[in-house]
Amino acid sequence: MDSEVFQRDKHVAFLEMMYQLLPHHYQTQEINRLTLAYFVVSGLDLLAALDRIDKDAVADWVLSLQAHPRNKAEVNNGQFYGFCGSRTSQFPPEDDNGASNPSVSNLASTYCALAILKIIGYDLSSIDSKSISMSMRNLQQPDGSFMPIHTGAETDLRFVYCAAAICHMLGNWSGMDKEKAKEYILNCQSYDGGFGLTPGAESHGGAIYCGITSLRLMGFLEEDILSKNASSSMVNVPLLLVWCLQRQAADGGFQGRPNKPSDTCYAFWIASVLKILGGHKLMDQKALRGFLITCQSEYGGFSKFPGDLPDLYHSYYGFTAFSLLEEPGLNSLRAELGMTDLAAIGI
Ligand SMILES: [Zn+2]
Repeated sequence: MDSEVFQRDKHVAFLEMMYQLLPHHYQTQEINRLTLAYFVVSGLDLLAALDRIDKDAVADWVLSLQAHPRNKAEVNNGQFYGFCGSRTSQFPPEDDNGASNPSVSNLASTYCALAILKIIGYDLSSIDSKSISMSMRNLQQPDGSFMPIHTGAETDLRFVYCAAAICHMLGNWSGMDKEKAKEYILNCQSYDGGFGLTPGAESHGGAIYCGITSLRLMGFLEEDILSKNASSSMVNVPLLLVWCLQRQAADGGFQGRPNKPSDTCYAFWIASVLKILGGHKLMDQKALRGFLITCQSEYGGFSKFPGDLPDLYHSYYGFTAFSLLEEPGLNSLRAELGMTDLAAIGI
């Protein structure tokens, strides 16, 4: 294998294998099956190989995971009616004794479901989006953050992003109080310019992605702000830019936090933010490509660290990173939505 070449065909074969059958190592991720499917479908789209899947079968499977209220009144019963992560987390609305089971659909699975449907060209206007939008309000907290599921869980920027991406894809923001969400995001920017997942938390590469992309999707942040008037932004852009650029380590890769080793996925989380701000030309693109190539598996896919075995998560973010680096043969990425520009047409 030519060690410097992006092995597109091997990556396509890797994803096709995951499409057919997930290795047993993914058993513990069963309830996140929609997320794993998103990595496969969006990955194949980035690699310009979406013809390898049965789009109708995928659409039927995704749609079968949507939770529906049994009647109009139920939309207001405090539950969230989105998509369940997998069949094992999808309970019938009533048990054998007639007692109702709560829906366990969640924001992350709903984002992945809608993204998959959009990528395969399914018309999102034909799904029951009203119950998603109306019931999503039950998840927003007084401080503007979101919890992922109505039964309660941690609330942080990850779920603000999922909610913003869902509203953006559906073209319906009634599920979110945007002003409150904006305030929450701005409170997450730290003294060092990065963003924590919650106000006051340590800055983190994943959190800056969620914060900046949410503001972008909500229309509060212009694209390429660095070439316009960065000082007019509600975000401290110069400090954030410095924080992002300082995450590129001596080996060329990006670390998620100071003093951490470079990791394939942060090439996506941080380079995406640089792209949106208009600062991606300031990173060392050649060095980043060099690091990513050391994480490319001879079997297809990417690993987290150089020389390790590949996994689906880091493979997908390896593909997105190569797309951001404009590798020939890859479709371009709409960084703030997590799908190709082609798939995002019409949103
Ligand atoms: Zn990682």
